Amino acid sequence: MPTQKTIKNWVYNFDQLPNLISEVGTDYDILKSLLGGKGCFLADMTKAGLPVPPGLTITTQACNYYSENQKFPEGMLDEILASLKKVEQKTGKTFGGKINPLLVSCRSGAKFSMPGMMDTVLNLGLNEEIVNVMIAETNNPKFVWNCYRRLIQMFGSVVLNIPDEPFEEHITAVRKARGVDSDVKLEAADWQQLAHEFLKIIESFGQTFPADPFKQLEMAIQAVFASWNGKRAIDYRRAEGIPDDLGTAVNIQTMIFGNINDNCGTGVAFTRNPATGVDEFFGDFLVNAQGEDVVAGIRNPQKISELANQWPEIYQQLLDVRGKLESYYRDMQDIEFTIVNGKLWMLQTRTGKRTAKAAIKMAVDMAEANLITKQQAMMRVTPKQIDMMLHPQFSEEEKEAAKKQGRLLATGVNASPGAACGVLVFDADKTEEFGKTDLGTSLPEAIEKITAVAEKLGIKLQANESILKIKYTPDGKIKSINPSVIMIRPETKPDDVHGMLAASAILTALGGATSHAAVVSRGFGIPCVCGCDALRINLSSRTVEVGDKIFSEGDLVSLDGGDGQVFSGALTLSLPDFAEQKDLQKLLLWADEICADPKARGDKPGLQVWTNADQPADAQIAKSFGAQGIGLCRTEHMFFAPERLPIVQKMILASDAAARQPYLDQLLPEQQKDFEGLFEVMDNLPVIIRLIDPPMHEFLPPLTELLVEVEKLKIADPKNELGEKQKLLAAVTQMHEANPMMGLRGIRLGLMMPELIAMQVKAIMQAACSVAKKGITVKPEIMIPLVSHINELKKTRETLAKVAKEVVANSNVQIAYKFGTMIEIPRAALTAGEIATEAEFFSFGTNDLTQMTFGFSRDDAERGFLLRYVEEGILPESPFQTIDTQGVGRLIELAVSEGRKTNPNLEIGICGEHGGDPASITFCHTAGLNYVSCSPFRVPVARLAAAQAVLNAAK
Ligand code: PEP
Ligand code: MG
Repeated sequence: MPTQKTIKNWVYNFDQLPNLISEVGTDYDILKSLLGGKGCFLADMTKAGLPVPPGLTITTQACNYYSENQKFPEGMLDEILASLKKVEQKTGKTFGGKINPLLVSCRSGAKFSMPGMMDTVLNLGLNEEIVNVMIAETNNPKFVWNCYRRLIQMFGSVVLNIPDEPFEEHITAVRKARGVDSDVKLEAADWQQLAHEFLKIIESFGQTFPADPFKQLEMAIQAVFASWNGKRAIDYRRAEGIPDDLGTAVNIQTMIFGNINDNCGTGVAFTRNPATGVDEFFGDFLVNAQGEDVVAGIRNPQKISELANQWPEIYQQLLDVRGKLESYYRDMQDIEFTIVNGKLWMLQTRTGKRTAKAAIKMAVDMAEANLITKQQAMMRVTPKQIDMMLHPQFSEEEKEAAKKQGRLLATGVNASPGAACGVLVFDADKTEEFGKTDLGTSLPEAIEKITAVAEKLGIKLQANESILKIKYTPDGKIKSINPSVIMIRPETKPDDVHGMLAASAILTALGGATSHAAVVSRGFGIPCVCGCDALRINLSSRTVEVGDKIFSEGDLVSLDGGDGQVFSGALTLSLPDFAEQKDLQKLLLWADEICADPKARGDKPGLQVWTNADQPADAQIAKSFGAQGIGLCRTEHMFFAPERLPIVQKMILASDAAARQPYLDQLLPEQQKDFEGLFEVMDNLPVIIRLIDPPMHEFLPPLTELLVEVEKLKIADPKNELGEKQKLLAAVTQMHEANPMMGLRGIRLGLMMPELIAMQVKAIMQAACSVAKKGITVKPEIMIPLVSHINELKKTRETLAKVAKEVVANSNVQIAYKFGTMIEIPRAALTAGEIATEAEFFSFGTNDLTQMTFGFSRDDAERGFLLRYVEEGILPESPFQTIDTQGVGRLIELAVSEGRKTNPNLEIGICGEHGGDPASITFCHTAGLNYVSCSPFRVPVARLAAAQAVLNAAK
């Protein structure tokens, strides 16, 4: 974003949208980056004739200028005054005037919604004198004094950085003195007293509240600009991937009061249900309140449907607005409105944040109703949201059983779906510190460590697996373990966001489905139950009372944000049923159609999504997720089965090919059975089976372990002959390599032990023939790993083709099979044209290709220096997770184009971990690959990402 002005003005009135459009065009993206989302929508609603209180927007360019120069750009204040004059003309009020005074709000509004992360000041324009004018005009001193104290309080905390506590303590003291339990019951004299006390609080901090309305406005604008670079906002931007240089716009708007009397009110609503996606008007409202009261969750609001009884005409008007907004924006809107003595005012509309489930349902529903196209529906859902749909949940049976045991504690508002078990922590700082603690990757060690960490933080807990948040790598290994924390608060505020980000779930006693806790949790995909009235939280003793039970910090609870239920102890998490997720299935079918559509994919083949699977059960799961083939079956995994390993070891230790054969003969029927299982599941779909890849020592005990064992045996019985152990040690020592990843593995091993891969090919082809005889269509593809030179491939293929031919000749079935190679070594990529003359397909093994291109060890780098590389910005991300397009990517592009030149029918895919990473999938499409192959649970994400790649490329 430029820090210079590129448009005519720093400031535009809401009704000047046409002027700005005449300068920059109608592109919403550009308009939003200048006016911010809020400013743009307010201007848009004004243009559409909806009842919007008049106001003006200071552009993001002014904020960027301020961030860089720590002062306002020249001329900006004059423009504000001129625009304010226009607001005065429209409203008939005067800012700072002694008759009919105008009060305004000053709110942030960035291009992307950052709810509550930046600052707002309300009721600007009041001072002692104007208070008296307003009292005389409204005859409502209680309301006016309350407005004034609210301004002083907000100004104090937001602009002058005075902590909120002293203000809140004074309110509590006055409430106590009056014997009332809510602010609404305080009287004019109370608010007047508080306003004066608040002025003194400000003075006690060495500051002064400015009585001049224009000074108030100027300082408030400055504070809002500065809040763009506040900690909360920066944390949020990091989490959401919002760039730092966008800046925020500032909206100055006529104040509309929902808290004048009981004939006023305010509400927040969504045009569809943001938790489920159901097409129903959804939201909350409060009588005699201001918008902040609903969002902050301080009072428990009423459901929007009850508005129909309270103010039927307003409700009808709101329904009209709902319809207008949805058909205009063609997306779910999040609106704020205020009712002033029977008149409806629209304060805000913006694209509503939604859960993963809602995003999918709305996208599908709107496409089916022809409100948007299928292509637009595809872009409304993020790969992360698809991922969340496959996350663990509590089963209904599990919840029923817990209820029978009397473990259901309470039911609150089901604000953000997803289930979690974790320990209660009562504040955001501790949640962040505890929740982010790295407990390593070993379960027993994590259980040991968590107690010590908790003790240091003063949390008493019972360590077990249920209080751990375990993340897995796509191939099922533990990636990280952190404590699982349920952050419990009366309500959450923007200052709590850092804790929320580290929590497994959020639980609050107050606030509805549009409270801060609900909105932020939904945005981040964190399970949340809010407004749980039954909780009596005591922050000073860090306990919560529920009925006759008391829970302390560190106690284990489970909650389901999908239905709002909270249980004591742990419930078992299980995976949701994909088959039941009809909307998701529909969306992904459309995704496949887009990838296959020649009009959409242009001159590219359009990606299919295949899977990496070694077992029939994995293949079955992947197929149910929509995989269109197996892109990688790692045959060595089949050698690790406990009953096979001893045979494999004997085979490895055999002195020559003849001695090895009997063991291979024993392994052959076992391998054949494995392959039969895969072919049966993948009827009519391609199955790529890779011949053995890892160095042989991986099947033998580690050298160091053997050395220790032999030494121990020697000490225990010095005369002992040691026999077999000694032989094993000698063999392992002889096989030991300094760089096994660059040693005797892959095709090299196949060339040194041709009988081993001949057995595998025989097993593959016999399995294919026997399954084909059952009427199943088999499509085997035999893949040779770690090729670097064409001669390696030529020689191996000659041997193996003979074996395959022989098997097929001896059976009475016709089988079409392919021979191909992995491209995992830079030399193979560089000589791909030559290699393609010997291969019917290529599959990029980007795990090894990245390792070999960077010279980074794939097993060590991510645990070591690579983390620092990413933290310090030396690399933008780990190249093992997202393809390094400039290095590894260039090799891929070269291999694709050279390979297809000599072999136009070459089938090309990717089977490294990158095959399930959305950014890498985008690259694979542009590079012209035929498919990506990834672990079963990433298949749905990859299907969406593949379609999005096609659509983005077409743009
Ligand atoms: C690769 O190297 O990308 C690959 C898929 O093979 P493996 O991970 O088994 O080495
Ligand atoms: Mg590899």
